[in-house]
Amino acid sequence: MICELCGKNVTFTRKVTIEGVPLEVCAECAKFGIETKKQIPKEEAPKPVIAQRLEVRERRSRSRDVLEATEREELVDDFAVRIRDARSKKGMTQKDLAMKINERLTVLGKIETGDMRPDDKIIAKLERELGIKLKEKVVDTPVAKGMSSSTLTLADLIKMQKD
Ligand SMILES: [Zn+2]
Repeated sequence: MICELCGKNVTFTRKVTIEGVPLEVCAECAKFGIETKKQIPKEEAPKPVIAQRLEVRERRSRSRDVLEATEREELVDDFAVRIRDARSKKGMTQKDLAMKINERLTVLGKIETGDMRPDDKIIAKLERELGIKLKEKVVDTPVAKGMSSSTLTLADLIKMQKD
């Protein structure tokens, strides 16, 4: 075997850590390092009981999240189109609308091209002025919470929708 430090060919090497770097070195070079204990790869190491229990608990609380999927309102993707359409139906120019909702023309312009997402305050004003809905109900699915969709069956989803 070759010593990783001095390159000497020796019959056996020792696993040491030299300045934080794990190396397999000859007996001579081993003096420079700290001998590493027999290494068990982390994922193969037997898990302490507590760690296992915690994992089960975490899984349980995650499945509770599924049942508690909440509904909330979110800005629709096509808000720009909806605003533009509603405004032109009312025969208003961008300037007219900007004045009515007391926002700057540049702001409204950006919103109507979709370059800017209106904040809740502007959304409310636009909805009132134009008589349209810019928000829609979305259900927070576990997928949105970063959970793998593969753990959900179709039955789970149907159950969630009924709730
Ligand atoms: Zn060596």
